[in-house]
Amino acid sequence: MLTPISGRSTIVTGASKGIGKGIAAVFAKAGAKVMVVGRNEADGLATVEALRAAGGTAEWFAADVTDWDAVQAMVARTTEVFGGVDILCANAGAFPQTKIVDMDPAEWDGVMATNLKSTFLCVKACIPAFEKAGKGRVVVTSSITGPVTGYPGWAHYGASKAGQLGFLKTAAMELARYNTTINAVMPGNIITEGLVDLGEDYMKAMAASIPLKRLGAVEDIGNAALFFASDEAGYVTGQQIVVDGGQILPESLDAIAEI
Ligand code: NAP
Repeated sequence: MLTPISGRSTIVTGASKGIGKGIAAVFAKAGAKVMVVGRNEADGLATVEALRAAGGTAEWFAADVTDWDAVQAMVARTTEVFGGVDILCANAGAFPQTKIVDMDPAEWDGVMATNLKSTFLCVKACIPAFEKAGKGRVVVTSSITGPVTGYPGWAHYGASKAGQLGFLKTAAMELARYNTTINAVMPGNIITEGLVDLGEDYMKAMAASIPLKRLGAVEDIGNAALFFASDEAGYVTGQQIVVDGGQILPESLDAIAEI
């Protein structure tokens, strides 16, 4: 049993839907005060309403996490309403699927900005709050795609997700002076709005390639993030955990057919 995180001010980026919404639900249930961040106001307000209906504390802040001014405003607003920032879940991300031969350089830049630059901006913006509190926690949503696996169409996405892990190793050293840890969750295929957009065939093929024979739920990622945010994980930093139902384990198609 983890020590409750009751009352901890938590920013979850990309919480208007998908994995971020799941992280927000798990953290709100554990007693955290959650700042739901995204761009789509209707989706964000719906998330806040759902969290409150379940007894949680939540507020909405609209921000594009690629925009430094917006990210600073996100931290300022969170400090204003919740009294500081204890936990940052840098989760917002995008995964357009385009093969290298067809990829416009602007698409590469956009994915890097949304997934990788945003991680740097959000961490940087929270440092003064962590310094003031004398402690902090950062949980980054990376992926198995990039750090461990490859998939046609996701060269830019995979590079951005591997980049997040490269970033966090040095960030862990620099944040240590603020008694702040930073770790990453690496999801496999998790059922979200973004994944559903990839189509039924993609989802079926993926489920068949996973030893546990099912796609993950957003709460599976929320629970792993909750561990990294807990008091009990206070001596863990610069690390990552794969949450993928065993997807990266089979060495061949025969191996998955055996089980
Ligand atoms: P999703 O359903 O498409 O949701 C993406 C979230 O990110 C939305 O809340 C979206 O908010 C937000 N977002 C995107 N760009 C943003 C920006 N520039 N500024 C602010 N918010 C932005 O995607 P998901 O599947 O939940 O993915 C969430 C994270 O998990 C990503 O980092 C992704 O790489 C990672 N991941 C997902 C899977 C999976 O299987 N689903 C697997 C591995 C890793 P708005 O629409 O309101 O802007």
